[in-house]
Amino acid sequence: MNDWKTLDTDELNGLLQDRQAIYERYRNRRLRLDMSRGKPCPEQLELSMGMLDAVGSAHSPKTADGTDTRNYGGLDGIPEAKELFAQMLEVQPDEVIVGGSSSLTMMHDAIARAMLQGVLGSAAPWGKLSAVKFLCPSPGYDRHFAICELFGIEMIVVEMKHDGPDMDAVEKLVGEDESIKGIWCVPKYSNPDGITYSDEVVDRLARMQAKAADFRIFWDNAYAVHHVTDHPDRLKPILEACKAAGNPDRVFLFSSTSKISFSGAGVAAMSASVANLNQIRKALSVQTIGPDKINQLRHVRFFGGMDGIKAHMDKHAAIMKPKFDTVLSLLETELGDKGIASWNKPNGGYFISLNTLDGCAKEVVAMAAEAGVTLTKAGATYPYGRDPRDRNIRIAPSYPTLSELGTAIEILCVCVQIAGAKKLLSGKQ
Ligand code: PMP
Repeated sequence: MNDWKTLDTDELNGLLQDRQAIYERYRNRRLRLDMSRGKPCPEQLELSMGMLDAVGSAHSPKTADGTDTRNYGGLDGIPEAKELFAQMLEVQPDEVIVGGSSSLTMMHDAIARAMLQGVLGSAAPWGKLSAVKFLCPSPGYDRHFAICELFGIEMIVVEMKHDGPDMDAVEKLVGEDESIKGIWCVPKYSNPDGITYSDEVVDRLARMQAKAADFRIFWDNAYAVHHVTDHPDRLKPILEACKAAGNPDRVFLFSSTSKISFSGAGVAAMSASVANLNQIRKALSVQTIGPDKINQLRHVRFFGGMDGIKAHMDKHAAIMKPKFDTVLSLLETELGDKGIASWNKPNGGYFISLNTLDGCAKEVVAMAAEAGVTLTKAGATYPYGRDPRDRNIRIAPSYPTLSELGTAIEILCVCVQIAGAKKLLSGKQ
């Protein structure tokens, strides 16, 4: 089928009627399919069940240095867990704080602390300033944007390119405006584009001139080891790059095992320079006596080390790959060459990001919902829920079964075709 933009009104009307009839048939089936959030499916969760036996009544509750994980103590995590996250994030163990079960909580708390007390080197708490702004490479992760909204941090959209944020724009903005205090980054298999930042982008972020002396990069490496294909992307370690550029305190890194072990019951960590962590630990010691060390210990015992994590992630990939393949091949068959949609083909992560023609995403998501397919709200991938081109849709293929996924994507594609045909017809009036 040709590019639909080259079709005349009659041809487009014919296609529209045909697709509307297909849509009605789907609608009458009263399906219930949910692709709204990137949740692991039950088979993925089963992969980690052995962990629940790794710290049982028959096992020692002690860490290698003799710490009893059942008791208080150890503000920033057990040494074995620091070592594991240090390897995953490519930093040193003394540059890691291992926390509770959620990296999002650690990000939220890092911002809360910055607003209340400032970060290392702040002249004043951010909350005392007349304006605090963050750069938000978009499409991006809606929960990052929600944190900014909660704290009244103004969000500035920066375009995502094929290798990361538009660095010309980032450098210009950060270099000129002292009220820009941070940038959100999901640097590997980004949510939702599945993009991994290039070495050049990492280096430019590390060495750019920032007007705010206390500027921070919030480096949310949630998908550090989550490859789907057998040719994983490689991400340049940013803490090292920041040190090399003479800006060792510029970055806060975050990660968790939420999509490695159990979502909501994994282990989360943050990393930064030793100087940053010393400042953070002071506030942390008021907030908590220490994290859940038993959970940390069972993670370390179950995975053994990075080799164990890699082998485990191969098993996740074996479940995820057919799902990504199903989505990508249906998108190709139903939308390829029609000129009404475009999408990325990520090597990992949890999402496929679909762009419709401008002005169609809200309509597509609403139509899909009417036919029983729940997608992430249109606009959610942009600050304030406002996609300026109303075109981005986040597809989360992990949770549904393969057959549910196939049906859901067929319905989505019909909706994209209907909205696309209507849009093209409206342009001919
Ligand atoms: N960051 C990103 C980019 C995510 O997609 C998610 C959702 N899995 C999270 C953070 C949440 O992580 P956690 O469960 O550790 O809070």
